[in-house]
Amino acid sequence: MRMTRLLFPTLKEVPRDAVIPSHILMLRAGLIRKLGSGFYTYLPLGLRILKKIENIIREEMDKIGAQEVLFPILIPKELWEESGRWDAFRKELFRLQDRHENHYALGPTHEESVTDLFRREYTSYREMPVVIYQMAVKFRDEIRPRFGVMRSREFIMKDAYSFHLTEECLDKTYNDMSIAYQAIFKRLGLKTLSVRADTGAMGGSGSEEFMVENETGEEIIVFCRSCSYAANIEKAETVLQQPDVSAAAETSALEETATPGVRTIEELENFLKLPKMSFIKSLIYKNPDSGSLVMALIRGDREINEKKLAGALGWAEITLAGDNEILEVTGAPAGFAGPCLLKKKVEIIADLSVKEMRNAVSGANKKDTHYKNIKFGRDFTPDRIADINKAHSGDACPSCRQKLFESRGVEVGHIFKLGDKYTKAFGVKIADNNSSEKIPIMGCYGIGVNRSLAAVIEQNHDENGIIFPPQIAPYQAGIISVNAADSRVFAVSEEIYNILQKEDIEALWDDRDIRAGIKFKDADLAGIPVKIIISEKALGSGQIEIKIRKTGETRMVKKEEIASVTKAIFAELEDAQQ
Ligand code: ATP
Ligand code: MG
Repeated sequence: MRMTRLLFPTLKEVPRDAVIPSHILMLRAGLIRKLGSGFYTYLPLGLRILKKIENIIREEMDKIGAQEVLFPILIPKELWEESGRWDAFRKELFRLQDRHENHYALGPTHEESVTDLFRREYTSYREMPVVIYQMAVKFRDEIRPRFGVMRSREFIMKDAYSFHLTEECLDKTYNDMSIAYQAIFKRLGLKTLSVRADTGAMGGSGSEEFMVENETGEEIIVFCRSCSYAANIEKAETVLQQPDVSAAAETSALEETATPGVRTIEELENFLKLPKMSFIKSLIYKNPDSGSLVMALIRGDREINEKKLAGALGWAEITLAGDNEILEVTGAPAGFAGPCLLKKKVEIIADLSVKEMRNAVSGANKKDTHYKNIKFGRDFTPDRIADINKAHSGDACPSCRQKLFESRGVEVGHIFKLGDKYTKAFGVKIADNNSSEKIPIMGCYGIGVNRSLAAVIEQNHDENGIIFPPQIAPYQAGIISVNAADSRVFAVSEEIYNILQKEDIEALWDDRDIRAGIKFKDADLAGIPVKIIISEKALGSGQIEIKIRKTGETRMVKKEEIASVTKAIFAELEDAQQ
């Protein structure tokens, strides 16, 4: 492509509403333009990259025997009613009506469409497994569209669905998908962490999220650099550091101690000269739906994970109780609550960390007073013990015991075992080999195509712009005619442009009659992997300069070698990515 024919509007300044590097660079490099809140036009360079990402995904899906289809964006309300999601999806679903007052949704995901197709087209166990995918636009009325194409309201997703009659069959496809996803992200130049819903203790996991470490991410993950463990902080198991109990193994009798105005663990630590681990933190929580109250206990050096706590209690929502409720339960103001001798009986749920505690200290449910020498099982017995502990960096890895790190992550892909939720709701039955009818089970597998592109840019850029890996760069090589008005420079540039075309190297020839500095800047901004620089000076010496975007390295080559050296550079860059 000749630059004089191309819509490639680069920007010098950082656009006003862009805050993260990928959003800023996609706008500055002329890849996208905003059309409305959360939807973007892809300009020629942006679209080329997107198509390359789609093709890499396609190749890996085809390799595992998935077949590509295309569902309509419109999905009739009746299908949503069958699955029960017309209401469940609430405000995220874009809904519309036709002239006959039929209702539709713009597809945010296609479980309904695929289950309906499967129900009509498949009948026998012999046809299983069925693996179907598409590359298509999705619509979600996100509450907060932001960060450009990272979280938009219209985006492209590769969504795949599989159907099986046995768990083993589903496991096999799920596993193939997991391997295919790893291959895809690697080919895109993305380093991902794999976050599984469980760590394998229960025999295989039900979901796996592919996360890209990034400060703008909305998910917090803990992960281990020594093994492959990674988990969402909401779910991460915690391996506790054990206190040294041998010194005080004998427990004395429960004893009150005056702690005037001393409420927090830090204040207690200073006042009583005891380590944080000696205290039991006692917090009262409330279920805002039902109004019920519980007391949750955790060792003083740890924090409660409210998501885990709500999960353990089976509550949809959870909040900390107010001062009046604390007074009602404990008979004391906030800061002096403890599990022994509560004024009002409420359920007590203790974290695993509390179970082994001896000679512990906690509030005495009396103003300015704490108890010492509390013994689990003697002075209080919780109604429930559960893991409600919040993991954080520095904790031991549950799998290899090395130190865990904490990071923010962006989800680029997600694979999930769905079970029979949709097939059951849609009344799907398949004849098994005994001619009895069975409800098939499903898996679903998504990759955010545009979000992956943004994530690649987050992970591959510098102060000059994007550094695309050659396999997804909009063009692989940029020909920079340093003085395009010079007839010799122009002629040689054209010759090289033709050679590259013939050799299947995608070339972008900057034939504009402008300063060379701008050409270099634009090529770097758009992440073109190599620049082939044609100047009068170089022509005089018979050597042409090739400059590698990623390393800044320069190679001088003869005209005849340009194609072979350029290809060799791509191979080197791809190898370095492995
Ligand atoms: P999130 O938690 O980020 O909202 P999700 O759980 O809703 O994601 P899925 O329904 O699993 O996402 O969709 C599959 C993939 O589609 C995600 O892994 C992500 O890459 C992409 N995706 C989801 N929502 C958006 C969006 N609003 N904009 C861009 N990509 C998205
Ligand atoms: Mg979402």
